[in-house]
Amino acid sequence: MAVTTDHDQKAGFARPLSISESVHEQIYQRIMSLEILPGARIPIDQLARELNVSQTPVRDALTRLEREGLVRKAHLIGYSAAPQLTPKEFDDLYRFRLMLEPESARQACLRLTPEKLERLENAAADMEKGEQPVSRNSRYSRFARADAHFHDEILKVADNEFARQALTDRHIHLHIFRLMFHSRVTQEALEEHERLLAAFRAGDADAAYHAMHDHIERSRDRLAAAFE
Ligand SMILES: [Zn+2]
Repeated sequence: MAVTTDHDQKAGFARPLSISESVHEQIYQRIMSLEILPGARIPIDQLARELNVSQTPVRDALTRLEREGLVRKAHLIGYSAAPQLTPKEFDDLYRFRLMLEPESARQACLRLTPEKLERLENAAADMEKGEQPVSRNSRYSRFARADAHFHDEILKVADNEFARQALTDRHIHLHIFRLMFHSRVTQEALEEHERLLAAFRAGDADAAYHAMHDHIERSRDRLAAAFE
């Protein structure tokens, strides 16, 4: 079976991705792309057959995905994909982000050093560059993770662990992106990130606040269509 990735090819020598990693990646992509629908059961034996592996790496992957909030485990029933956000949860989530992230961007701006700014620039650039996507799905899930990483880097620079954990522990971004799979995604968000970076570069904390506020509101509006 194919257990190498772009990742390995770049390394220049044969260092195959572990079977565990590969299985995790494949299940992750199926969930994010809605190939496995929210709430759908995930039978371990069937998945192991489809991926042509034993059940052990499938179990390991599902345990990890459970930690990431993308699958649930129920006694006697087994694993299923986490349910989609409800409209109420979606609304709560965005109001919560609007409380935390613009202020975090402002505080990050006040704490920036050249090294930290470079980290943010790199995290933002990660979303645009990258290997040739293997498929729409892999490009999409890469984008989702890169965006989550970028937002998390800003929270790190803001240096308030309570705020950071409140947003990252529940893997909010993954749920948002799963919701977003069938909507227009990338270009607008990249432009909004660029405005945020411009504020960081200028050391303008108020502009950073407003750029983040604007980004989150626009992101909410792009996604609201998913409920219509
Ligand atoms: Zn973003």
